[in-house]
Amino acid sequence: MLWLKKNMGKLPLMMDCREHDAFIDDYLDDALPFKDRVKFELHIKMCPACRAYLDAYRRAREMAKGAAEDFAVERPPMPEGLIEAILKTKGAI
Ligand SMILES: [Zn+2]
Repeated sequence: MLWLKKNMGKLPLMMDCREHDAFIDDYLDDALPFKDRVKFELHIKMCPACRAYLDAYRRAREMAKGAAEDFAVERPPMPEGLIEAILKTKGAI
């Protein structure tokens, strides 16, 4: 299995871990061309380290997206006159 891991990028239709890493965002965005998607998924099946990394990366992306959405929803509207009051306090108006 170590031989396979070291030589994975040299086999036809196989990408190495570095290539795999570069394609993760496009894969998760469903933006990879078919040929690259097949190579990517083949690598995932053969490489437990990249499979684990992909799972963690996917979860991190979902958490970041969820946090951004929570922030947007929970942020209260700016009270009317607040900006003007701040500017007056600073002597800008
Ligand atoms: Zn890998």
